[in-house]
Amino acid sequence: VLLPPSPTIQKAIEQAYEKFRHVTDGKNASYIPYLAKADPALYGIAVVTADGRVFKVGQADHAFPVESVAKIFTLAAVLREHGAETVLHKVGVNATGLPFNSVLAVELNNDKLGGSPPPGNPLVNAGAIATASLVDGKTLDTRWKSILNTAGEFAGHPLRLNNDVYRSEMESNQHNQAIAVLLQSYGHLYADPTETVDLYTRECSYDVDAVDLATMGATLANGGTNPRTHHAAVDAATSARVLAVMATAGLYNTSGEWLFKVGLPGKSGVGGGIVAVVPGKLAIGVYSSPLDEAGNSVRGQLAVQFIAETLGVNIFAAD
Ligand code: GLN
Repeated sequence: VLLPPSPTIQKAIEQAYEKFRHVTDGKNASYIPYLAKADPALYGIAVVTADGRVFKVGQADHAFPVESVAKIFTLAAVLREHGAETVLHKVGVNATGLPFNSVLAVELNNDKLGGSPPPGNPLVNAGAIATASLVDGKTLDTRWKSILNTAGEFAGHPLRLNNDVYRSEMESNQHNQAIAVLLQSYGHLYADPTETVDLYTRECSYDVDAVDLATMGATLANGGTNPRTHHAAVDAATSARVLAVMATAGLYNTSGEWLFKVGLPGKSGVGGGIVAVVPGKLAIGVYSSPLDEAGNSVRGQLAVQFIAETLGVNIFAAD
């Protein structure tokens, strides 16, 4: 594989930074008090290559809550622990086409098939909560340590829970509690609902910055081995499966539009982070808190699209 030269990458991210710097479209997530007060002006971009080079511009070192981007690393951990068949049958891997927090992700499948098919996929809340309920560990704390450790292997250094975010979300996560109980009623929750929502809420509440996201993505680009620490977080088959689910559902109900426009597996979070992966080559991480209607960072999407086009890395394009 031919990786883009360093000056080309640095120039592309600087152009993306300048080009969208003054975009003010979108709104911070308002349903989580901590996220509502994030500074919408902050904007950072990072690229990490599969051979371990790091590029950044803007506030790429500014820490923010990972939110839904965490779903891909918990999925990776569960795939590693339980294998692909378990995720396929107990969670599912099809697009729901629904908003990230939709209860219908649980309901519609059950109506349609009259039985108890899995809740959709691990990258919307229902499936992510089901996925979190599959994490091994005797106590809530050991399960949480396991999730955080795996994410840290992807990032290349230990990550930390942001207690303010965690508290803020625990006070406002009634909707996710409802999803968990509904999953339980259909036999698709594999641990205690209260503990599982707590675990899921913790997973949303660790801090990352744009460089972390790009490094975590670069680990997937590099077949599951962190290109900076050379530690294998997951094996290559697991890494490829995570990328497949990202392509299917990484941007919730606008995943199709995203893939159509950008041509890369991606994952967003309502904290304003977004990561996009070019298998075998690199990953792009962006932070900017204002979101579109679906909950995806507005400038994050613009920046990734511009960088992907500039570097010519659409995975569907013949080169
Ligand atoms: N913690 C958020 C929630 O569960 C994460 C959602 C997201 O980033 N889309 O509502």
